[in-house]
Amino acid sequence: MTMQNEDLKVIDEARQGEAIQMLGLAGENKKKLFLESYGCAMNFSDSEIVASILIEQGFETTPVMEDADVILVNTCAIRDNAESRVRQRLYDFKKVKRTKPELVIGVLGCMAERLKSQLLDEEKLVDIVAGPDSYRDLPNLIGQVESGHRAVNVLLSREETYADITPVRLDKNGVTAFISIMRGCDNMCAFCVVPFTRGRERSRDPESIVNEAKDLFERGYREVTLLGQNVDSYLWWGGGQKKELETEVVHAAMNHTLPAEEQSKFTTFADLMELVAQVSPQLRVRFSTSNPRDMTDAVLHVIAKYDNLCKYVHLPVQSGSTKVLGDMNRGYTREQYVQRVEAIRRILPGSAISTDLITGFCGETDAEHKETLSLMEWAEYDFAYMFKYSERPGTAAAKKFTDDIPEEVKSARLTEIVDMQQKHSAKKTKEGVGKVHEVLAEGYSKKSRDMLYGRNSQNLVVVFPKENFKPGDYVNVTVTSCTGATLIGTGVKKVFN
Ligand code: SAM
Repeated sequence: MTMQNEDLKVIDEARQGEAIQMLGLAGENKKKLFLESYGCAMNFSDSEIVASILIEQGFETTPVMEDADVILVNTCAIRDNAESRVRQRLYDFKKVKRTKPELVIGVLGCMAERLKSQLLDEEKLVDIVAGPDSYRDLPNLIGQVESGHRAVNVLLSREETYADITPVRLDKNGVTAFISIMRGCDNMCAFCVVPFTRGRERSRDPESIVNEAKDLFERGYREVTLLGQNVDSYLWWGGGQKKELETEVVHAAMNHTLPAEEQSKFTTFADLMELVAQVSPQLRVRFSTSNPRDMTDAVLHVIAKYDNLCKYVHLPVQSGSTKVLGDMNRGYTREQYVQRVEAIRRILPGSAISTDLITGFCGETDAEHKETLSLMEWAEYDFAYMFKYSERPGTAAAKKFTDDIPEEVKSARLTEIVDMQQKHSAKKTKEGVGKVHEVLAEGYSKKSRDMLYGRNSQNLVVVFPKENFKPGDYVNVTVTSCTGATLIGTGVKKVFN
């Protein structure tokens, strides 16, 4: 179960199963691609890369799967229910294939990486299995299938960052876009399948990131979200994997404590944020996700320095118990996490903070669950994504511990944390009433074309009458009321003219 805001979600329920539709690309003899995406923002960003690679090869996209020559589904393996959802979906594709045997069906992404050729054997209809680092190989894999073979590429790369590929944009509003800044993860949290499905951490060349941000800005985009599994761990020194460097050097570089000349060889996440902030004061910058063990004060000071760096930090805690955090191999204690939140509140007063929580991790006692509730009570998160623990085969938790918390206990604990979070979210939303918020208008409200919606710097959704404003405008909005997680108000004036 998750709780959500309008956008920028780890798992955005509204976008699950979204099919890419690129308008204006239709051509006479082009092959048609139906590309559907599940999972986190990173997956949606990857689908933009996949679409870009295949459009370059002469494909056009279609939102109608029955019209497709190739169906690709970009998958998530983070929890069992994410995989079940895709397996269900494969049956729909199977129906289409029955009437169209030449149809090519491929499974991409984390589930492909986790299950590898097992997917070909189990789901007899699947022709292609391609992991997150093998998208450049897709034209070749499709060719192999067309010549009568089934095709698998699940090799994980040490270098692949797709830095040179300009993603086609799936963000339909033309205002907000994702920029992938790194791939993989080295954290090895005991519950998490990501290091196995996405491989070792690699950072992308900062120049290519800044150029992508500049290009988006010139094309009218006004907000970018820098994406990575653990963005604070971003480090560029000319390429390569971080594990090639000495741990002390990495630590000193990330904390900006190396002698100046040495430090200048590195681009840290703080440096990168500053570079992207300087693209234009009219380009908002967000990021996701931070890991408390790596989030430095240097990053917080840069966010404080630039108005266009959004005052919103997503800082997943997972549990309020030091014992459980140790079992999860999160690399911090409750006290250290509290210190990070205190640093955010001190350096970025007025910033919103959100989190991720897992209930019912192996061996979690009732007292440990209560520690999570007491941490929530203390932190008063603006927002939270909350999940029941789902054992993932091959992870450290699956090997070392027993998934011993009964389903009904997991559910009851989840309900308790969801209830508490709803109380806090409602309180935070109410605090926004009676104030003026700088809102970046992203599009028309679902309910009425006469209303615009956008977000304030703290990531709260604000709805206001369109009047003479349009998507892409920054508007000062006087908020007069709220419903649940949405602020409602009236536009006062455009911020930049
Ligand atoms: N890299 C980020 C981090 O480590 O904080 C977040 C990555 S993950 C895509 C998003 C969230 O899914 C995690 O923060 C965690 O709360 C949840 N999650 C990951 N593995 C899970 C599992 N096995 N069962 C339940 N929730 C899980």
